[in-house]
Order: sequence, then C-alpha cells, then structure tokens
Amino acid sequence: MSSVNKTAHPFDKARLEALLSHRFFYAPAFEIYNGVAGLYDYGPAGSALQANIIAEWRKHFIIEDSMLELDTTIMTPASVFETSGHVARFADWMVKDSKTGDVLRADHLVKNVLEARLAGDKEARGEVAQPAENEKKNKKKVKKTAVRLSDELVKEYEVILAQLDNYGGLELGELCRKYDIRNPDTDNKVTEPQEFNLMFASSIGPTGKFPGYLRPETAQGHFLNFSRLLDFNNGRIPFASAQIGRSFRNEISPRAGLLRVREFTMAEIEHFVDPMDKSHSKFSGVRDTVLTLLDRHVQASGSTKVTEMSVGEAVEKGVIANETLGYFMARIHTFLLKIGTNRRRLRFRQHMSNEMAHYATDCWDAEIENSTGWTECVGCADRAAYDLTVHSKKTGHPLVVREPLDHPIVTEKEVPVFNKKLLGVKFKRDGLILQSYVEGLNEQDLFKMKEELGKGATSVTINGKTFEITSELLTIERKTFKETIREYTPNVIEPSFGLGRILYTLLEHSFWSREPDIERGVLSLPPLVAPTKVLIVPISAKKEFEPLVNEISAKLRRAGVFSRVDDSSVSIGKRYARNDELGTPYGITVDFASVKNRTVTLRERDTMDQRIATLEEVIATVTELVEGGIDWTEACRRLPAYDGVQAID
Ligand code: AMP
Repeated sequence: MSSVNKTAHPFDKARLEALLSHRFFYAPAFEIYNGVAGLYDYGPAGSALQANIIAEWRKHFIIEDSMLELDTTIMTPASVFETSGHVARFADWMVKDSKTGDVLRADHLVKNVLEARLAGDKEARGEVAQPAENEKKNKKKVKKTAVRLSDELVKEYEVILAQLDNYGGLELGELCRKYDIRNPDTDNKVTEPQEFNLMFASSIGPTGKFPGYLRPETAQGHFLNFSRLLDFNNGRIPFASAQIGRSFRNEISPRAGLLRVREFTMAEIEHFVDPMDKSHSKFSGVRDTVLTLLDRHVQASGSTKVTEMSVGEAVEKGVIANETLGYFMARIHTFLLKIGTNRRRLRFRQHMSNEMAHYATDCWDAEIENSTGWTECVGCADRAAYDLTVHSKKTGHPLVVREPLDHPIVTEKEVPVFNKKLLGVKFKRDGLILQSYVEGLNEQDLFKMKEELGKGATSVTINGKTFEITSELLTIERKTFKETIREYTPNVIEPSFGLGRILYTLLEHSFWSREPDIERGVLSLPPLVAPTKVLIVPISAKKEFEPLVNEISAKLRRAGVFSRVDDSSVSIGKRYARNDELGTPYGITVDFASVKNRTVTLRERDTMDQRIATLEEVIATVTELVEGGIDWTEACRRLPAYDGVQAID
C-alpha cells in the first residue's frame, strides 16, 4: 500500500477556485449577466455534495434524536419580525468611503486593516519570510507594507482583534478615527458607522399594503408552530424541531465566495427544554468528547489561546452553561469530523457579553479555519424563553407547556367573599371598584381586615373616597387551593448551521496537489459525502465492455452505491485525474481480461493503489468501504495488489 504526502504543496486558493469552477461545484449566479455579488448556483458536483451533507445531517441529528421536521414558509409578514426584534436589531454596521461613497462593513474594515498592519510589522521585524507566490494570490485582502509598529501598538491591535465581535457602532467609529483606518482601495477616510438592516423587504399581495420580509433564518417558523409541535409530541417536553431551508440576508459587501452570501441553505434545530432542568438524557454518551474551546474570559483578556476540554468537564466547571448546550456542541463536533472537517482546524468560540443577543444566556460558535481565517459555521445558543414569550405576548396565543404535577401543590389563602347583593345596593357602581381593590390586597392586609371585621366593621379609602364596610357585606375566609398543573414557557437551545460555509471549508480542507505535479488537484472527500462514490472506467468505449459495465452499474445500484460510468475517449489516467478533482474515492477498471475472467481492478483515490479481484469481490468490498464498515487498509488485506498487468488466460 502506498502512502501519500498531501502537504507537499502549500494550499493554493486560486487553484482550488479554478478547480471548483471548472468542475462546476458552484459558480456565480447570473454569470452571463455579469453576476450579482453574494449569489451562487451549485452545479452537479456541488449539489450532490450538499445533498450528501444534508442526508448525513438528517441521520446524525433528526433521526438520532427523533426530532420533528418542519418546512415553513420563507416569505414572512413584517409583524413577525417586528415582534422577534429583527426589524429593530438585525443589522450590521457599515461605513462609507467619504469621497466615492463605496460601502464597507465596519468590523471587517477594522479587522482587515489591523491584520495587515500587524503582518507588515512582522515582516519589518524579519519574523516572517516573504510569502510564496501562491500565498500572495490567496490573499486578496488589504495590502500590507513592512512598517514597524511600537510594542504597545502591537498589543493594542491584538487586543482589539480578539475583542472585535464585542464592539458596536460607536466603538468601531472611534477605532477608525483613533487608528486612522481608511478605505484600503482608495486611501480615503470613512464616515461614522451607520446601521444597515440585513433583511430583504417585500410586500405580500397586490395592494402593496401588507409588508413582508424574506426570512433571514428558519427559526421563527419553529416558534410560531410551537403549540402544534407540542401537541404532536403528546404535550411532552423536551423535544426538538428541525428545519432545512433557504434564508436570505442582504449582506453589506459579500466578497468571500460561499462564506458570505445573500441567499443560503440553513439547517436549524430548536430544542425546547424545561427552564428548571436543562440536563440531557443522552449526556453520558458525549461526556468524554474533547472539544477545542475559546471561552469569553480568554478573549476578554485579549488572547485567542484555546483549551482542550471534555464536554463533561466544561459543563461541570460552568464553562458551558448546561448539559443540553454541551450535548449539542459535542454532536456538532462529531458531525463536522464525520463529514471530513479537519479536527485541528475546528474550535468552539464563546460569545462575549455584548456580542450575545440580550436574552441569550450562553452562546458558542463552531468556527472552522480556512484561508480567510476562522469562520463561524454553526451557532449554538441558549436563547432562554425570549422567542416564545414575545410571540405569545403579541398574539395572545399561549405558547406554554402545561404539565400535570406528580404531587399536587396544596396551599391555603385568605380570600375576600362579598355579599354581592348588598354591595350593589350600598355602593352602586363604586361596588366594583371596592371589590377589585380588596381582591388586590396582599395576604397581610387581608389578615388585618379580617381582624377588624371580626370586631364588626372596617373602612378603606380609594382615591380619596372612604368606604365603610360591615361584616354583613364582606367576610375574609381561609380557603384551600390545589394546583395540579404547572404552566411554563420553555427555554430554547438552538444549533444553527450554514451549509454553504461548511461545504466550502470542507473543500478547502480536502484539497491538495498530487506530488510532484502541482496541476493535479485532488479532493480527499470522505466517501460519506463524496458526490460520486465509484467511477466505472472501461478501458475503451468498445461495445464488448458494455454488458460488464452495465452489470457492475446495476449491482452497485442495488447495493445503494452511487456510481458513474466514464467511457469518454481520453486516457484512463486523464479520466482518473478528472475524478480525483471531483473527489470520487474509488474507481473500477474494466479491461479485456475483465470480459474474459470477470476480474476487475479497484483503485483508491488518495494513494492511487490498485487491487484486483473478481467482480463480485470488488463490489462487496467497495460497498463496505463506502458504507464505512472497513477502511482501505482492510480492503488491501482482502484483495491482492494489482501490478499493472491483467493476465488473460
Ligand atoms: P447566525 O444566525 O448569524 O448565527 O447564523 C447562523 C449560521 O448561518 C452561521 O453559523 C453561518 O454558518 C450561516 N450564515 C450566516 N450568515 C451567512 C452568510 N451571509 N452567508 C453564508 N452563511 C451564513
């Protein structure tokens, strides 16, 4: 079995982008109309990759935890987002170039300029070598110049960068002024930051009077259907709903390919839980999962140093707020590794206080490192009872759980009992005012009143008017109450996935060039998500191969293994190279000997190792490989090596 050196060539973003475009993973939408920033179409390879990621997501989350799947509408009445707070707050800070009017996102501007200055400083100190030619191509960011900064300034910049997500418009404006941060494209000053709401506004129906928005997340659809979901779940809690669907955000300046787009697919889970008990019944199964954590205290101290910690320890120490949040972080971690994310380039970063929504109690982002830095790919937040409470208050529809109590709660209380007839006769319409006043009194006041009534009479003064009350009119009685139902608004733990970001970072992590030929790109996608699992390659397009090729196709199809036939006229080497670029993990070659002996060869993408065996053996092995039952080492133990010649006896 041969070994592979995947890191012989440094990562080259331009080459990866050329491959993704050439092999049509995705491309700018409306390209022949010059395209629109932040809108992309996925081609066959990208669509299949995304579909496979979604299929695994469904298995890993929805099926594993019996979640209730939803498909709610994208177009949403404005009132929903007014209530949820999106109309007022779903915004980013933008600045404008003072001369050209070009718009830039304020936090990105500060980040890019300060990072470039720090890089320039490092170069001036001789701490880093000049970047290689291909690295230069990877950085389309702000140009750096080798200028030495004072040690204090370096520290200041580092602290700002570590805390950047915590800054609002005022602070970002101050930073631009204090550090003379300008538009890098023109060197012009920028204006004070202004808020820009990221939702696409629309209107529903022909009158233009019913405003709506394209949803910027799928979450509201879960909250608005809470009562039905609870009912569907037989009134029991905890449970989770899940939804995969499109969301829209009118990003200020989307320039980072699939990482920041204006229309994207999200997969969101809303896990509804008792606020008094956020334990998770399956926590013991994830307790030992070790995560890479960057907590808020470390960031507040101006550092980005991560800690490796088991989820169990993190929850025990209060680093992660509760078991349910910890459970989902661990599940997100295993999902991302399963689909091929590099473990060393995955971390969970906790939100700092300003960054977190005001109602949230804890929030962690799964961030994946890529050529642009660390990018949030999954948000995981404890949103408390905020969403259900605001929608319930606005609509009057109770979004609550009513739970029968195991042990009814019995209480005793003093209760005012009026002689209604006498009350009407004596005080007429003022009787109602008196009644509601007395009913609103606390236990202590009622007790006092009871004592006085025991002596015959009492009086109360309401808005300057005194009411004489006799014991015939009012008695205060001690009554017993029995509560059999507990009513509460559940809390929500929300893992929220952006599939485009996950897909793109996965492509970066999978890409390498085959030694020694830098032009030969390979995508080492795991079979689980690879668009095509097996390539069937007849040595030529001759008719005599057709029956065998059809037989292999049919057998693979029956085994549930997705394959394609490539009988194009180019050489076998070229056909394999093309499929290495598409991430196809296995290839079956059919040649003249195959027709005669029913033997075929099996090729593995990364090592290019080839084994030989009967068609049945190869199909059985490749099926197990694709299903993840065995790895290539085991396949090599089962199937003899192929030395390049198939004997024809
Ligand atoms: P948020 O609701 O802002 O926490 O976003 C949830 C997830 O959606 C993030 O973790 C990202 O993966 C994804 N996401 C948010 N905005 C964008 C965008 N403009 N383009 C692509 N993915 C995005």
